[in-house]
Amino acid sequence: MIIDTYLKKTAAPGPATLGRELLLIDGRRVPAVSGKFFDTLDPSTERVIAQVAEADAADVDAAVAAARRAFEGAWGQMRAADRGHLLMRWAELIRQNQDALVELESLDSGKPVSAIRRQDLPAVLDTLTYYAGWADKINGQVIPARLDALTYTVREPIGVVGAIVPWNFPLMIGMWKLAPALACGCTVVLKPAELTPLTALKMGELALAAGIPPGVLNVVPGYGKTAGAALVNHPDVDKVTFTGSPAVGREILRGAAGNLKRVTLELGGSDPVIVCADADVDAAVKAVIIGRYWNAGQACLGCKRVFVHDSVYDGFVSQLVERVGRYEPGDGAVKAEKPKLRMGPIHTRQGRDELLEQVEDGVSGGGELLIGGGTGGNGKGWFLEPVVVAEPADTSRLMREEVFGPVLPVSRFTDFDDAIARANDTPYGLGSSIWTHDARLIHRAAQEIESGMTWVNQIHYGYDELPFGGVKASGYGKEHGIEALDSYVEIKSVVVGGLA
Ligand code: NAD
Repeated sequence: MIIDTYLKKTAAPGPATLGRELLLIDGRRVPAVSGKFFDTLDPSTERVIAQVAEADAADVDAAVAAARRAFEGAWGQMRAADRGHLLMRWAELIRQNQDALVELESLDSGKPVSAIRRQDLPAVLDTLTYYAGWADKINGQVIPARLDALTYTVREPIGVVGAIVPWNFPLMIGMWKLAPALACGCTVVLKPAELTPLTALKMGELALAAGIPPGVLNVVPGYGKTAGAALVNHPDVDKVTFTGSPAVGREILRGAAGNLKRVTLELGGSDPVIVCADADVDAAVKAVIIGRYWNAGQACLGCKRVFVHDSVYDGFVSQLVERVGRYEPGDGAVKAEKPKLRMGPIHTRQGRDELLEQVEDGVSGGGELLIGGGTGGNGKGWFLEPVVVAEPADTSRLMREEVFGPVLPVSRFTDFDDAIARANDTPYGLGSSIWTHDARLIHRAAQEIESGMTWVNQIHYGYDELPFGGVKASGYGKEHGIEALDSYVEIKSVVVGGLA
């Protein structure tokens, strides 16, 4: 419906948008104090979708004050079980409104409707219901430290959380932060990426409609250097949870130092995949393709550098190239009519230019471009045909930097120790995988590859129950699982004497 409305408007001459979107602060949709708006674009057509109120420090102040009131008031005073019920009702409303959310996310992010409907939206619901179920199970422990005293711990919510998210999975990554924070009894000021602010506002409205009190979830779209920095530096924010680039992660650490905020950082990745001589090559190729080209390769987690044993290298590469050739990037606006469309555009022109430069660097340094790299000429939309580069130098940008798009370098190895060393030769440490049935190699990879997560004969994929997060420049702190809950609480020890 939203896409239909938008298409009708864009078919007409002149500027045509879905309208103006305001901030969400203390349960009300309000303009920015500055009165400013910014445009949000459809990356498939480069047309403006909507004008969005642009938050800056003054709006962040108001949002943090509202979050503090809600933390000390309605939300903080609510029985944990009742918080859980409200989160469940929110999930129900998200389910009922999923068509609108899917279409809005698709327009704003360029992702195919079919992908959001099949993957992102169900993942959002799973995460929310998983943590809604946890709300009344966040216990302390009685720990027998003394015989003459009662000694126990309590888990107390940290307070006001600033959540800053990127544009690649706006709904999903937003929920990774909102659900555990709210389940613990924290309140949140959410700053969506300036490129994809629309669904966060809609989610905030649905939270209110579910009965979650005003001020518990505030949404302040705006730019990183203004709204984002104001949130990070705010003296009344107790924790910042951030997903984005390592460069901004470092700025966040500096900003958080003022009042020693707790910080969770989910940064980039350059996940290695090791395909051994005994691997099921067919299964590995299929998994690598999904792992690399999912979301047009714009994912932190994925199969970003593949090392294939010399004995199976040729077969792996020929299957890979044949299957990658079936991918065809497609226009966001018509994605509703193409249920099989698997790849949308790159999110910005700058992002696509950078990918092309990384490919060029890999090829000029000795790699061979096996397929892809076309951009569809001068038509609208920042499309990129999926790329495979064979054996670029290990020192090339393709191997040293995070490659945030549908570009896959494939390398050859003969010695397993060497493969592990090359896998670790990166600043990043998010995920990794190995394809083999040799138990010794499986355990060696799980222990020796420097990453927060390792998959064996499996695609890189996260689960709500399992902690998710990286090491090295991929950040620290965990999302998902009970570990995420612990990042939104302080554990207090209590010793009650005088009982004997
Ligand atoms: P980015 O770091 O540029 O921006 C992320 C968010 O931070 C945006 O909301 C932005 O407005 C905000 N921001 C920018 N500067 C800021 C500042 N000075 N202070 C506070 N906030 C600021 O990242 P991006 O380009 O939006 O996303 C791509 C990056 O995110 C990639 O590196 C990718 O790997 C990473 N990522 C990581 C994960 C993960 O879970 N590890 C998941 C998705 C994306």
